Amino acid sequence: MSAGDCIFCKMVAGQIPVARVYEDEIVFAFLDIGPISDGHTLVIPKQHFEKLHDCPPELLGEVASRLGRIAGAVAAAMNADGYNLLCNNGRAAGQLIEHLHFHIVPRNVGDGVFDRWPSYKYPHGKIEKIADKIRENL
Ligand code: ZN
Repeated sequence: MSAGDCIFCKMVAGQIPVARVYEDEIVFAFLDIGPISDGHTLVIPKQHFEKLHDCPPELLGEVASRLGRIAGAVAAAMNADGYNLLCNNGRAAGQLIEHLHFHIVPRNVGDGVFDRWPSYKYPHGKIEKIADKIRENL
């Protein structure tokens, strides 16, 4: 997807109405129109990148430096007990809009959001092999 076809780029450009909560020269933050909890906010770099690893490190650092303040404001505004910070990368991971974005999802005890975390145990020896493979790709 090119920036010209991107719904988030159009929001940044003011071509699509949006419930904006924060904007500066680097990031744009707005309410998700399909929230999984009230106050569910998306934070995006204004520049178009598809995935986290596509974003240059310096810019990613600039984006990350805004996340804590915005997340704290979202949680305070929603009187939330906590929040999740999520970044889905690729269709397989649930990324629907191919413009890097971070979800801030306000949470309250017992709200039922993400009730199931599908964890499991590695068979013997597998965890070391996977760690080796990841290190080889860094
Ligand atoms: Zn975009």
